[in-house]
Amino acid sequence: MIAKINQLLEEVEALKAANAEELEALRIKYLSKKGAINDLMADFRNVAAEQKKEVGMRLNELKAKAQEKINALKEQFETQENGACELDLTRSAYPIEMGTRHPLSIVKNEIIDIFARLGFSIAEGPEIEDDWHVFSALNFAEDHPARDMQDTFFIESHPDILLRTHTSSVQTRAMEVSQPPIRIICPGRVYRNEAISYRAHCFFHQVEALYVDKDVSFTDLKQVLLLFAKEMFGADTKIRLRPSYFPFTEPSAEMDISCNICGGKGCPFCKHTGWVEILGCGMVDPNVLEANGIDSKIYSGYALGMGVERITNLKYQVKDLRMFSENDTRFLKEFEAAY
Ligand SMILES: [Zn+2]
Repeated sequence: MIAKINQLLEEVEALKAANAEELEALRIKYLSKKGAINDLMADFRNVAAEQKKEVGMRLNELKAKAQEKINALKEQFETQENGACELDLTRSAYPIEMGTRHPLSIVKNEIIDIFARLGFSIAEGPEIEDDWHVFSALNFAEDHPARDMQDTFFIESHPDILLRTHTSSVQTRAMEVSQPPIRIICPGRVYRNEAISYRAHCFFHQVEALYVDKDVSFTDLKQVLLLFAKEMFGADTKIRLRPSYFPFTEPSAEMDISCNICGGKGCPFCKHTGWVEILGCGMVDPNVLEANGIDSKIYSGYALGMGVERITNLKYQVKDLRMFSENDTRFLKEFEAAY
């Protein structure tokens, strides 16, 4: 019996298999129910009582060795197989899903491009702001109704901290740290406490521009607006300014452009007026310049601001604002050709 075990031990030590099938055959030969080791186990009851202890130990040793050897061979195959896969240069490649630029980014970059050509540089600021930079420094009086006009997200435990309602806070920060000439464009996300629907959202994107220097007049503003409208919507675009009110500009105006869908003839999009509103603007209120440390007797400036979603809607007729933030790739893919 011991001689038989020793012989099998030697065989097991020397086991070799060229592939998985051969290995399986070896497993059946030694370790299956009808395998060589089990046969020996079956003979164990015939072993003389005084030899049982030694034979038992040797048998167990043999079984463990055989199992260990077969596992080692199996592991070796699996590693080899994985290695072979990595090196299979003939296998066809997985398709790579390419993303596209978001329509709001496309339009925002177009706006920035136009103003960059006019010498404006990009300025950015925090989205979590304080009351001073969003309201007080922009001439919103403490009890000014304009503070209610925009339903704002305030931080409950810190009523002075809020999510900015407009990117004008970036203008405040720019004036705070530099003296004119200041010529900046401020793109960014803003927040308002609105119920979400196809035409309103609790966050949207703005681009604002600010120019402060000596002798800046409304004429300069009008020229920049006309140039912007033509660059953005085509050379035939006309503009129209209507008097308006904002706390931070005086005088203030809203700008319409001739409807780019019907060419000004009148259509449902422009409510048959031939005009669509695209932005607000005006001359920076002297109070705002003074609040930010700029001498309003020497300097003057203009500011303008627009919603990126609004401009994108005009260019691409997106009817539901929610589409912009749903990340539906079918919607996003429609803009593949736009940049
Ligand atoms: Zn129209």
